[in-house]
Amino acid sequence: MPERSETESRKLLRRLRDSLAGPGRGQERLDRIVRLIADSMGTEVCSIYLFRDPRTLELCATQGLRAAAVHQTRLRLGEGLVGRVARTGRPVNTGNAPAEKGFRYMPETGEEIYSSFLGVPIQRLGERRGVLVVQSKAARQFTDDEVYALEVVAMVLAEMAELGAFTGEGAALARPHQQPVTFRGATGQEGAAEGHVWLHEPRVVVTNPVADDPAAEVARLRAAVERLRLSVDDMLAAAGGADKDQRDVLEAYRMFAHSRGWIRRMEEDIALGLSAEAAVEKEQGAARARLEHVPDPYLRERLHDIDDLSNRLLRLLTGQGRDTGAAMPPDPVLVARNIGPAELLDYGRNLRGVVLEEGSVGSHAAIVARALAIPLVIQAARITTEALNGDRILVDGDNGIVHLRPEEAVAAAFRDKIAMQTEAQRRYASLRDLPATARCGTTVSLVMNAGLMADLPSFVGSGAEGVGLFRTELQFLVRSRVPRRSELAALYARVMDAARGTRVVFRTLDIGSDKVLPYMKPQDEPNPAMGWRAIRVGLDRPGVLRMQLQALIRAAAGRPLAVMFPFVAEPGEFHRARAMLLRELDRAASLGHALPERVEIGAMLETPSLAFAPRSFFEAADFVSIGGNDLKQFFFAADRENERVRRRYDTLDVSFLSFVQHIVARCAEAGTPLSFCGEDAGRPVEAVCLAALGIRMLSMRPASIGPVKHLIRRVDLGEARAVIEAARTAGEPSVRPAITAWLARQR
Ligand code: PEP
Ligand code: MG
Repeated sequence: MPERSETESRKLLRRLRDSLAGPGRGQERLDRIVRLIADSMGTEVCSIYLFRDPRTLELCATQGLRAAAVHQTRLRLGEGLVGRVARTGRPVNTGNAPAEKGFRYMPETGEEIYSSFLGVPIQRLGERRGVLVVQSKAARQFTDDEVYALEVVAMVLAEMAELGAFTGEGAALARPHQQPVTFRGATGQEGAAEGHVWLHEPRVVVTNPVADDPAAEVARLRAAVERLRLSVDDMLAAAGGADKDQRDVLEAYRMFAHSRGWIRRMEEDIALGLSAEAAVEKEQGAARARLEHVPDPYLRERLHDIDDLSNRLLRLLTGQGRDTGAAMPPDPVLVARNIGPAELLDYGRNLRGVVLEEGSVGSHAAIVARALAIPLVIQAARITTEALNGDRILVDGDNGIVHLRPEEAVAAAFRDKIAMQTEAQRRYASLRDLPATARCGTTVSLVMNAGLMADLPSFVGSGAEGVGLFRTELQFLVRSRVPRRSELAALYARVMDAARGTRVVFRTLDIGSDKVLPYMKPQDEPNPAMGWRAIRVGLDRPGVLRMQLQALIRAAAGRPLAVMFPFVAEPGEFHRARAMLLRELDRAASLGHALPERVEIGAMLETPSLAFAPRSFFEAADFVSIGGNDLKQFFFAADRENERVRRRYDTLDVSFLSFVQHIVARCAEAGTPLSFCGEDAGRPVEAVCLAALGIRMLSMRPASIGPVKHLIRRVDLGEARAVIEAARTAGEPSVRPAITAWLARQR
């Protein structure tokens, strides 16, 4: 067989396009298409297999195999050569198919007489729809040109499928973006929400995959690439001396925008008959398919850069901007690959939920979603390719599950869940003004965690008695430059106003680790959680900390002030930080500023070492707060950001509770007030255990105050303590089974 010429390819693509435009149902089109392809490729067989569900392929049309096998022959993902193409997303090209490893003989198709086999994935933006196969009797490998040409054809088929050209009867011919799909990701923020999809970056729709005039298409592509290059140069110029990370990304963009390989491949696609936008999308899809197989995070980032650049190029070519004119639904659930904290804050409380393809529990977006109390699911792979603006969507933040276009039965069950939560909230609301007094008469003070102004509207409704942890770094994280002292002072004053005279504990900057400021040079640290962070940065580079302390003093002016230093690992750090604050108070006094009415200076206990500090430390601290999130990660040596290990060790493990008890005893002997402000404080069962061990102040997300109060009011903390002791004496590894059984017996 002679090598394929470009003219032949273009002719085939044009005929495919015409068959799309022509009359007929999906099945008729498919039948026509396999005939066209077999004819053009000079093969005896051409078959199209499409997914009927994510794990099963179905033969949907064939020229050359037995017609009776259509819609009967099915293969599992990975089964046979067709299944292999579908699983790997890569072509299989062999002159002797039956000898190939994994070949699966399907007698109903009569295919044993065909020796050569070429299968390519039908995929669009890395999303696989099926497999396109040609076979012939002659035992020969297909040439690279033929493989390439068939990939281009498969790309056009994928676009046609996306436009609904093959819609017909049966699951394999179902209209795209119509079926219910469930995504299993991870919890970013608990809560349940129902709404409609709002895509942060709506997909560009390519309606003209095939073009008649390659020269004109190449000219369009080149013009668009030129505009892209200029816009990247502009971005670089605008970034000026911005932080290195941002410049690195832009430099990578520039490199790709000038990459000869990338542009040459797109021009080759055009030469075979694709339109400029289809060529961009084909290469974008290839990059996404490669992304799946790249474990190296650096390379993954670079492939993401190509993806972003391709999106920009598509927008330039199609004129479809970010704003496609669609109206935001009244109950929007934001769906995005990823999103920055400032962008998420812009959407604000309008959102019912957020679903991200990427993201991590500690990402800035997750922090903002938490502050806004919006259910968030992260790592919902491929949702941006599947979801369309306006699709119905259910977000189950508790379990990290998303139901897109759900069946009515699923939606009904979900609504029941939401109704139950609403009912529970109503019940909790009735407790709002009551104290968290246990049946034994002990009262636990329940306060809230905050970090953004967006948190504070929850203050009144939650029944919080104050703010036990104000994470000041969040204000820094969501800005692109260092805030000024006057801005900070005004903000802190507003926080105190919103807390209506109750106590607010301001924690000084805890940057470093997962919290990297956009304008701060990232430190290349192998273990950032144990690296140069929090008070370590504050003491080594005191400028920002000093400015922050001054802002706090100004904000308090005449009101009480509580300041807490994070991540104190040894007493010297606390003493130095405390001395800094005292110096700033002296300075403020000498400048004649109004001083705080009184000042409390505390430390966060987040490293096991501090629990063994000399008594003088506990006496010097006005209060201590256990940062359970960090303390637990260092106690168990399990990264709190790592999905693989972060749930592996339980807070109610006897060893951890014994450690907490040790801290309670150290504080008690020095008469130092102790609170707990990690996420565990907001989990009712954990909260009861912490209170039973003697902690009298728990700081948590506002939404947790109701459920925690509800449970504490129902129990006797002395009894809970006895259950913990009994489990320990019995040599149980964890208190959880015993405490859960005991709680089940409470009325
Ligand atoms: C903690 O470590 O428990 C804590 C409250 O601080 P953060 O989660 O901000 O590190
Ligand atoms: Mg911490």
